[in-house]
Amino acid sequence: MSPLKLIDGKVAAAEVLQQVREDVRTLKADGIEPALAVILVGDDPASHVYVRNKILRAEEAGIRSLEYRLPATTRETELLALIGTLNDDPHVHGLLLQLPLPPHIEETRALQAIAPSKDVDGFHSENVGGLSQGRDVLTPCTPSGCLYLLEQTLGDLSGKHAVVIGRSNIVGKPMAALLLKAHCSVTVVHSRSADAKALCQLADIVIAAVGRPRLIDGSWLKEGAVVIDVGINRIDDNGRSRLVGDVDFDSALPKVAAITPVPGGVGPMTIAFLMKNTVAAARQQALSSQSEAVCLSTY
Ligand code: NAP
Repeated sequence: MSPLKLIDGKVAAAEVLQQVREDVRTLKADGIEPALAVILVGDDPASHVYVRNKILRAEEAGIRSLEYRLPATTRETELLALIGTLNDDPHVHGLLLQLPLPPHIEETRALQAIAPSKDVDGFHSENVGGLSQGRDVLTPCTPSGCLYLLEQTLGDLSGKHAVVIGRSNIVGKPMAALLLKAHCSVTVVHSRSADAKALCQLADIVIAAVGRPRLIDGSWLKEGAVVIDVGINRIDDNGRSRLVGDVDFDSALPKVAAITPVPGGVGPMTIAFLMKNTVAAARQQALSSQSEAVCLSTY
């Protein structure tokens, strides 16, 4: 296997986190200590692991973290009250609500309660709308990480034809919006697409975010395509449990110019971009409060 074809997400995430640490140092020198609050409701074991990893990465980056682990019985009003308190706290810059929520809490209402300026997951409709208008807003972490990997691999993406497989609010749709903003021609395919494979065969760039193990094999790909595999699927491989992507890595490899492995591709980028978003939110809030102070002092 040519190592040149492998897009190494661990190396790229380390670069992003190094930049984050430098940005945190600069902010601290200006008297701002970036802080990320993470709220977890309920007992989902995977969510507890994700939150622990996010807190650890934040600490490593020098970002203060606040952790709120609430019981599954928490009422929606209690959760909204906590979000409101954190929205109003000038010492908290990023606010993340770990999903999924227990079924009695309405996800959209809870996500919409987060102040857009602190919405480091980029899920608030104000940020979603801003991204679709091509504005610089807080954008979802996984597609932002994918875009970074593509730009590191290909440089300028202008004029490339990108096919995004999947149209979720978390990955597919924001990915398509980011690629449009980067001047790609974008096709989005999904479970109702008439011939997803034929569309994919035309792509210079393929982003697979489906959640179906090895759906996309080499026959879906144009010679020389660059492939970003977002999928994380646990399969039973002759009695051994292991992770595979949405792309059949072995048959794709001879066709592609470059491809992300699973694991070790997109996965590490998501947390790195959460930290990057937290620093961006802290910087933006500091600038806004400075300009508010200037406005007030002119009266
Ligand atoms: P999702 O919400 O389940 O969305 C899956 C999308 O795939 C849907 O839009 C669906 O179409 C489409 N789809 C399903 N079957 C298809 C087919 N046969 N052909 C074409 N499209 C098809 O999943 P998600 O949250 O976007 O996640 C996708 C994958 O990425 C999962 O494996 C997830 O674990 C992984 N993921 C990884 C990271 C990371 O950090 N690396 C982060 C997030 C997600 P419809 O809309 O028509 O149903």
